[in-house]
Amino acid sequence: MRVELIAYTPKASGVCCDAAAVCTDSQNGYRSLQHSMESGHESVLEHAVFTFRVEGLSRAALAQLTRHRLASFSVQSQRYVKINDVDLVMPERIRNSEFYVEAGSLLEDVMNLYRRMVEAGIPTEDARYVTPQAVPTSLIVTMNARELRHFFSLRCCNRAQWEIRCLADEMLKLCKETAPILFEDAGPGCVRGRCPEKRPCGNPKIREKGNK
Ligand SMILES: Cc1cc2nc3c(=O)[nH]c(=O)nc-3n(C[C@H](O)[C@H](O)[C@H](O)COP(=O)(O)OP(=O)(O)OC[C@H]3O[C@@H](n4cnc5c(N)ncnc54)[C@H](O)[C@@H]3O)c2cc1C
Repeated sequence: MRVELIAYTPKASGVCCDAAAVCTDSQNGYRSLQHSMESGHESVLEHAVFTFRVEGLSRAALAQLTRHRLASFSVQSQRYVKINDVDLVMPERIRNSEFYVEAGSLLEDVMNLYRRMVEAGIPTEDARYVTPQAVPTSLIVTMNARELRHFFSLRCCNRAQWEIRCLADEMLKLCKETAPILFEDAGPGCVRGRCPEKRPCGNPKIREKGNK
């Protein structure tokens, strides 16, 4: 999977600091932003947006990503774009199992069937019905900083599925590099305090960092 931050609001942190400061007519934007976030007044974070290009994400993970309704998506069409030779996404746990060869052969058969159907004139929008969830896709996704922080809370968590967690971890890394003030305490809930999950993973980040 490849993840690239292709665009973002210039001076993203400054814009959100200004938004927080204007609310209380404060001269200290950074302090106002901290105060807003501590109070849960997170709408000030909506003024900064970040756009990512993602390549090689499986259709299985795409279905999870697009559940985030406040994000904007543009996804490569399987109706109009033929699936050519692609590297199917194969989980490590299958790759390292006794099922790997059988799974690989089944996927190859299915993709060959897809190609033969398209060559025989079946439209790609119909032929795609035989394709597996392992097929990778390309997309552009845009989220504002508030939604990104929410997304990171859910999807950087060890309880999240591994592929969307890899995506979220990579996006978080790029966001932290670009706007550290907005994302310094972003990540799973356990980065900020007690785990909100009903079934915790048993490996809270706050303990790893020695903050407890
Ligand atoms: C570990 C894990 C397991 C999951 N398992 C399942 C599963 O088994 N089955 C399944 O169907 N889904 C599952 N999901 C998906 C989950 O239920 C959410 O659909 C997904 O995480 C998006 O979260 P969200 O709705 O908070 O986020 P977003 O859609 O990004 O929304 C952000 C926030 O905006 C607000 N909001 C958005 N839309 C509305 C609305 N219509 N009304 C009121 N408030 C709104 C809410 O406060 C919401 O938290 C799972 C998610 C995770 C992380």
